[in-house]
Amino acid sequence: MKAVVFSQPETVVVEQVADPRCEPGEVIVQVKRAGICGTDLHILRNEYLSNFPLIPGHEFVGVVVEVGREVLDVKPGDRVVVDPDLYCGHCFYCRNQQANHCLNWQGIGVTRDGGFAEYVTVPVRACYKLPETISDAQATFIEPLACVIHGLNRLRTHPADEVLIFGAGPIGLLLLQALQNSGAAKIVVVEKHANRRALASQLGAVAIAADENQTAALRELVPYGFSIVVDATGVPAVIEQALNYLRPRGQYLQFGVAATNATITWRPHDIFRNDWTILGSYSQCLTFSAAIKWLENNKIDVESLVSHTFPLTEFPDALQRFARGETLKVHLQIS
Ligand SMILES: [Zn+2]
Ligand SMILES: [Zn+2]
Repeated sequence: MKAVVFSQPETVVVEQVADPRCEPGEVIVQVKRAGICGTDLHILRNEYLSNFPLIPGHEFVGVVVEVGREVLDVKPGDRVVVDPDLYCGHCFYCRNQQANHCLNWQGIGVTRDGGFAEYVTVPVRACYKLPETISDAQATFIEPLACVIHGLNRLRTHPADEVLIFGAGPIGLLLLQALQNSGAAKIVVVEKHANRRALASQLGAVAIAADENQTAALRELVPYGFSIVVDATGVPAVIEQALNYLRPRGQYLQFGVAATNATITWRPHDIFRNDWTILGSYSQCLTFSAAIKWLENNKIDVESLVSHTFPLTEFPDALQRFARGETLKVHLQIS
């Protein structure tokens, strides 16, 4: 079969590799569509948990073409989306409803071969059957949307929250819609690219340019500060000033992924004085079903977030354009 292979750090090839086989409890999925994510870049740069060579790809949808022994829940022909996070189910964290911190975690497309290929072998327990009303393009967003829903589960949302989101990339735009669904009264997005700001306002947010006038513009919109501030950039300079916009009793959510060695300065006195809550959100935690439900009921517009669709063979070019920030969400149409 044809597959994208990260043969060593910083090296991408599209080549012919052996067809995958399936062990008991596993199925082979013919991949239809897959999404490129910032994590794929971290993996390629050897800034993540992966070993090489690796077939990356952890956001994908496909059709089951073969099932191994002891597989009862799915059959060939079933259209499925695959939860790439494989939890052991029996470690301390799994037993305390924190599967995203599983001590024996494995990731499809991260620690084992993933979906940037014609076929991929996955454990049957990672498969979720899809209703026909969800398109392949929508289904490819289930994994990132599941991460956003985990972020929402971390927050305590209240009716009529006033929310500020830094960054209107694909994740910022999903967060925007998720928080709208949770009853926010006003959502303001700060973003440097005009095309992303346009999309954010189309989706119902007030979009502000990230520049020297942003502080004045935000003060005018919400004079007493926001009840929720979310970072969806991962940029230390953005994160460092984010609390300036948080009202007393407000919640700050760190969603964007900063470099592992990045540092910022915050004053503990400010956190004390303002009753602030500081939250993180790591990956997703059994939130696939919720993501499927939102898409099935048209609660989230994801298709307008796809800016480019490439064939598998053009992956190296697709990844470069993504890395240069020229795109919004990039999909591969594989079969
Ligand atoms: Zn991802
Ligand atoms: Zn575990």
